Amino acid sequence: MLPILYLATQNLHKVEEIEALLKGLFEVRTVQDLGLNEEIPETGSTLAENSLLKAQFIANRYQVTCLSDDSGLEVEALGGAPGVYSARYAGQPKNDQKNLDLLLHNLSSENHRDARFVTVLTYHTNGKYTQFVGEIKGNITHEARGISGFGYDPVFQPEDSSRTFAEMTLEEKNQMAHRARALQKFKRFVDESRKSHDK
Ligand code: IMP
Repeated sequence: MLPILYLATQNLHKVEEIEALLKGLFEVRTVQDLGLNEEIPETGSTLAENSLLKAQFIANRYQVTCLSDDSGLEVEALGGAPGVYSARYAGQPKNDQKNLDLLLHNLSSENHRDARFVTVLTYHTNGKYTQFVGEIKGNITHEARGISGFGYDPVFQPEDSSRTFAEMTLEEKNQMAHRARALQKFKRFVDESRKSHDK
């Protein structure tokens, strides 16, 4: 039987991406399975802090093995914004379309459109927390393209690609994206821990 891993996120798109990459390694469950429906507070000033806060919230309340994800889009011409505020760039309540429209508006007269996506995962098991970072560089398109994925996917075109994330299948995005890269590091960590445990 596979060990159970709870994902400390309410974002079903993230759950889908993470689940696809952890098949065969964990039985993935969500915080809804624990009966949690409220938003986990994100009061930190960096992705790493917020990622840790989410994992601690779930670990402290439910004493389970869990993985949290805090991600953001950093645009060079905007001094790294929206960054840690990616989810609420256009204010509350969170709205992906409004965030994306505001980003395109703020870059409307800008030709320098370099950006990167960053994910910080925090793994909690038996009172220990370990973080894994993944990033992907790319640029912000002049208009939204594609309908897959979520968030800023329709305006993010990875380096060396002619398509935005929203024009890719989940499998294609998962071969290169920030979250997938952090998850590859996490998987190697779990493999190593299991091997040394078996010795
Ligand atoms: P949080 O990690 O839940 O605080 O939110 C991160 C926000 O960044 C999301 O609401 C999205 O707007 C954006 N984001 C994070 N990862 C991705 C991604 O893979 N594609 C598109 N947008 C993303």
